[in-house]
Amino acid sequence: MKLQEYHAKTLLSRAGLPVPEWSVASTPAEARAQTQAYAANGVSQVVIKAQVLVGGRGKAGGVKLAGSPTEAEEVAGRILGMDIKGITVRRVLVAPAAEIVRELYLAAVLDRGARRILMMGSAEGGVEIEALAETNPEAIIRLHAHPHLGLLDWQARQLAFQLGLGDHLKAAVAIAKGLHRVMIDNDADLVEINPLAVVRSVAADGSVSFSVQCLDAKITIDDSALVRHPDLEPMRDLDEEDPIDVEARKLGLSFIRLEGTIGCMVNGAGLAMTTMDLVNRAGGSPANFLDIGGGARADKVAAAMRLILAEPTVKAILVNIFGGIARGDEVARGLVEARSMQERNVPMVVRIVGTNAAEAAEILRVAGGDIQTARDLDEAVEKAVAIAGAAEA
Ligand code: GDP
Ligand code: MN
Repeated sequence: MKLQEYHAKTLLSRAGLPVPEWSVASTPAEARAQTQAYAANGVSQVVIKAQVLVGGRGKAGGVKLAGSPTEAEEVAGRILGMDIKGITVRRVLVAPAAEIVRELYLAAVLDRGARRILMMGSAEGGVEIEALAETNPEAIIRLHAHPHLGLLDWQARQLAFQLGLGDHLKAAVAIAKGLHRVMIDNDADLVEINPLAVVRSVAADGSVSFSVQCLDAKITIDDSALVRHPDLEPMRDLDEEDPIDVEARKLGLSFIRLEGTIGCMVNGAGLAMTTMDLVNRAGGSPANFLDIGGGARADKVAAAMRLILAEPTVKAILVNIFGGIARGDEVARGLVEARSMQERNVPMVVRIVGTNAAEAAEILRVAGGDIQTARDLDEAVEKAVAIAGAAEA
């Protein structure tokens, strides 16, 4: 689950990291009022930022400065409703604009290969790290945190020096260690600050000071760990999630979309993987991974079928059910029900074995139509691959 910048900043700021104060507006009038409140505290300029879960908002025109409440209202009016990479902006973040002296990059990412958290930094912030990795890979600092002890002091100091933050050593060390902590505490896959900035501030008495601030934040939480973080679930942005994923989660189905043409409905993750392997071996390609779970009832089967059929590239459906807790006749009833509601006629090959398999076969036989049955899995896979291949030709 990707977090919006304002949620990510909440996690950073809770962990004690330096984030300039911010507010969130969903109308231009709100942005105006918030800017007015900042101005009352001596803030002369605000930054207004589109809250969408895509990178490069700045380049797309989704990050703008405003010098007055009136201008903030205008700017927010332009950004709200804007389309950024296919996503409509519904909210903006409003914050006192920082006077940036230098932009840097700092992130904690999960390095699955090394089974450690990798700290990545660059003195060339502001640019996208992927672009930097292509043009100037030596400019990226990489350092693995200790798997048990975390990011050690000397590691954090080394990072700080390599980033050219020797003048802000204490702050930089605290930020690097803080990022690592946020990563661990929230079971995140990624915590990215781009830009991490050296910021110039002028106090009311005219004195100038410099500090390091997190001006942008991107956090991705490991979905499988969300059960451990009930406080994070409300941060999910349903507007920006694939409606199919939202529906699958609601139904309690494990559903992952793939590129192929054969929709697969299987119970059990292991059986689902095996089915996908067999489809590949027979020369076909699965359109999805779907585990309908044990003891699936007819309505769940019908709902799962709707998810599969929502993909217009699906040319054949392969149903592979091992009836243990799940009863074959229940599944068959679900399939027939789904078929009756289906708007698009996609051939279905069904293999059901185990509990009530005979009843299932009878239900499918009576239903007739485009439901084919198979004696065993190999035959079912072959039939489905042949149908999908013929449809594509
Ligand atoms: P992104 O483009 O989606 O990564 O959005 P960012 O929040 O990183 O903003 C893009 C760019 O806008 C940054 O690299 C900065 O150059 C600029 N920017 C962001 N916040 C501020 C700010 O408070 N003050 C100033 N002057 N520039 C900012
Ligand atoms: Mn950024």
